[in-house]
Amino acid sequence: MPGADRSLCKDCAHLGVVTNARGSTFWRCKWPANPMKYPPQPVLRCAGHAPAGGDPGLPDEESR
Ligand code: SF4
Repeated sequence: MPGADRSLCKDCAHLGVVTNARGSTFWRCKWPANPMKYPPQPVLRCAGHAPAGGDPGLPDEESR
C-alpha cells in the first residue's frame, strides 16, 4: 500500500493486524477513542499514537 511505510500506525501500540480468509492483511486501529477501526492509510497525524516498536509488515493493497 503506498505510503504505509510512513504511517504512524506502523509502530503504534494500538495497531492490530488482521488477516482474512484469503490471506490479505489489514491494519486495524484498536484505540477505543478512534471511531474509524480501519483508518485510511497513511495516517500522518493521530492523537492516539503510542510508539510500540517493531514492524507489523505492510498491509495489502485491498486495505485502502
Ligand atoms: S491510534 Fe492512531 S496511529 Fe495508532 S493505530 Fe490507531 S490510527 Fe494508527
